[in-house]
Order: sequence, then structure tokens, then C-alpha cells
Amino acid sequence: MQRRQILQAIGAGAVAASGVGCANMQAKGGAQPKVVVIGGGFGGATAAKYLRMWSGGTVDVTLVEPNANFISCPISNLVLGGSKQLADITLSYTQLSARYGVQILRTMAKSIDAEKRVVELGNGDRLPYDRLILSPGVDFIWDAVPGMSQAEGTILHAWKAGPQTLALRQQLEAMTDGGTFALTIPTAPYRCPPGPYERACQVATYFKTFKPKSKVLILDENEDVTSKPGLFKKAWADRYQGIVEYRPKFMLGEVDAANRTVISEFGDKVKADVLNLIPPQQAGKIAADAGLANANKRWCEVDFLSYESTVAKNIHVIGDAIQVASLMPKSGHMANQHAKVCAAAVLDLLAGRELNAGPVITNTCYSFVSSQEVIHVASVHGYDAGKKTMLPVAGSGGVSGAASELEGRYGLNWARNIWADALE
Ligand code: FAD
Repeated sequence: MQRRQILQAIGAGAVAASGVGCANMQAKGGAQPKVVVIGGGFGGATAAKYLRMWSGGTVDVTLVEPNANFISCPISNLVLGGSKQLADITLSYTQLSARYGVQILRTMAKSIDAEKRVVELGNGDRLPYDRLILSPGVDFIWDAVPGMSQAEGTILHAWKAGPQTLALRQQLEAMTDGGTFALTIPTAPYRCPPGPYERACQVATYFKTFKPKSKVLILDENEDVTSKPGLFKKAWADRYQGIVEYRPKFMLGEVDAANRTVISEFGDKVKADVLNLIPPQQAGKIAADAGLANANKRWCEVDFLSYESTVAKNIHVIGDAIQVASLMPKSGHMANQHAKVCAAAVLDLLAGRELNAGPVITNTCYSFVSSQEVIHVASVHGYDAGKKTMLPVAGSGGVSGAASELEGRYGLNWARNIWADALE
């Protein structure tokens, strides 16, 4: 890969190439341009920070986020395994306002009026914008399978880190030795392809030490493990023989929430002592309600040069909510990269400059197969002007040769760095 591409891939190039940085933003009627960001997760927090930093404070940025703190999904599986606490993955939003001047409104955005360029908040207040960035993450499709909607609120997904992560850990602790933990995985695409398999490893590592007669049963709707298949299967065979059982092509037909039972389309019944149901997903509700989910009514199609929605002007969508290009995972790392390309593009658009015509972004996902040992998958994606999409860069990326503690240190440092990049 060329040096310029590498710089662009890590984010710095997005600035250099676009000419962003202490830009003299066009003031409309004397006022600073206003950007509203909905969602303070991996995508939204990063976008808000970089908009303020790269504009030299010349753009007003308001972040709308209901949660008091940022709780990270990456590393949350280690809370289930018992080697980390919820406090280890909980971070403050304070620096975004104190250091960068992002205005944070702790509330839900209720609706978007794209014509008038106004966001309506839960309390009825109306926020005007010049450009809107949406990073609402995913919402669950609870009515995908009969009985699943009754599971909402009673059967845990823990697919948004927070109280459910803690509650699932408590269920595992309360389970008697000899019990079964069953985890269902929806058909891809879903948030974090390797996440469920990492979760299986984390629960297995806990069982191996504290409840060795117990089982982890993975009920996967997919044909095979969707990320790092060889490495995960090796971990289950070498480390968790007799504990982890993997069942591919287990298409959910029905959920009997009251009895913690799932039934496949072929009638196979599985009753679990602890059932962890990961429902199918779609773009966060606010995006869907605004009519932006134009790919299969689930995900939001965007122009990969700016992340502007293909159906609504001046509205940009980043993170898990987008319809990804080929081999682009729904990950925190990707959301961070979308955010930087989008922030640079929004500043260019506000200043009337040309967009960077060749963004390059990266992804790395580290998965903990024990409390210390990690495997990774990495990829690089460049814009193809002919196809108007992102394509994997030939010869880039790859997976670990084997799990190692060295990668365990890389994995934890990756998390600290990306949290700092978004929030500090
Ligand atoms: P989120 O980070 O979910 O942020 C969305 C935010 O929007 C939330 O804070 C929410 O409160 C807010 N919001 C939603 N609707 C509204 C509204 N109407 N108004 C205001 N705010 C709203 N990724 C990795 O890169 N590496 C990993 O190791 C990794 N591990 C994972 C492990 C697990 C168990 C899981 C579940 C995920 C993991 N991921 C990992 C994936 C990663 O968490 C997501 O891809 C990432 O969070 C997506 O960022 P986002 O900004 O799109 O959404």
C-alpha cells in the first residue's frame, strides 16, 4: 500500500487530502454552521470530536445522546467471562464538551424533518441544523420469529453493552454447574461478526474454571462461523473440548421465552438454563423512521465519499446503521473510520470545497479466546470510483497465525486507543 493511502487509512490523510483543519467556515448570516450528531457511540462521538477539532472550533456541534456514559461493546464479553468489570468499559463524555466544545444534550432524538432541517427532541425542543450526522447503531427486529417479541425484556441479548451485560453475567453466576448456556446468532449481517464466537469463548473460559460440567451451545443461523472460522474452531477444540458445541444452520423457527426454549425451523427444540438470544438487527429506529433505511428496509445506503444518505440531502449516516460495502464489517473500528471520512466531508461541503475522491479506511477486530489470548482479523478498504463503492485493497489485511498473549496486549491497547480517539 502507498504511504499516502496508509496516512489516509489512519485518518490523518482524510484531513490532509481534504484540506480540512482550522478551516474558515462559511458563516450563514453571521452564525457558525450547525452540525447535529445523533448518537454518542463509536461513530457519533468520534464525528463530533473531529468536527470540532478539524474546524478549529468554527462549527457548532451538538451531540444528542440519552446515556450518561459511553459503555463499550468491545471488551464487554470479558465482563461475561469475569476478567473485566462494567466499570472497565464505562467512559465519560466530559472531555468532548470540556476540551472540544461539543454541546451534549442528554436526551433521545424523536424525529427528523429533512425538509426544514430540524431534529425534534424527546422533550419537544427543536434543533435546526445545516448538516445532520446519524450514528444510532442498531435496533432489534423482535417480530422476526414467532414468540421472539415475548422474549424482549425477559430473555437477554446483551448486544448493547450496559445493564444487560451485567444481568447476563449474574445469570451465569447463578447457574448451577452442569447447566447449559445457549447463544443464538442471527443470519449475517449483524453487529460485530466475531462477537458471538468471542462470547462463547468467554463463557467457556468461565465454565472451565468454575463450572466444568456446564456447556456452551452455539446455535448459529449462518452456514459457518462468520469470522476467523479456523481460529475459533481451533480454540473450541483445543481449549474447550466437551464444553463448547457449535451447531451451524440452526434457523430459528420459534422462541418459547417462558421456558427458555428455542425451536429450529426443522422442529429441533433446545432448552437452556441461560438463554442468550441475539435478535436480527436493522438500522437504529430514528434512521428507519426518517425513511433512510432504503436497503431492504433495514440499512441506510450512503455515498461512501461523504456518508450522505442516498435518499436525503444534508443527512449523513455512519456506523452500524449503514448498508455496508462488500466485506466491510459492522464494527466499532469501522464506525470510527466512517466518522472521520464523514467529518472531513461535512467540513468540505460546508466550506464549498472538493471532497477527497479516494478515501481509504481500515478495520481490525481483536477477539479474546481466553481472558488473555487473542486472535485478530484486519482489512483495508479503498474507494473505487468506477463502482462507486468501497472495495478491499488487494494484498491487505489477514488474520492471526495463532492466538497469543501478545495479541491480548494489542487487543486491550486497541480498545484504550479507540476509546481515547472517540472521547478524549
Ligand atoms: P453505537 O456505538 O451503538 O452507538 C449508537 C448510539 O446512538 C448509542 O449510544 C445510543 O444510545 C444512541 N442513539 C440511538 N438512537 C438514538 C436517538 N434516537 N437519539 C439519540 N441517541 C440515540 N467492534 C469492534 O470494532 N471491535 C470489537 O472488539 C467489538 N466487539 C464487540 C463485542 C460485542 C459483544 C458487541 C455487541 C459489539 C462489538 N463490536 C466491536 C461492535 C461495535 O460495538 C459496534 O459496531 C459499534 O458500537 C457501532 O457504533 P455505532 O456508532 O454505529 O453505534
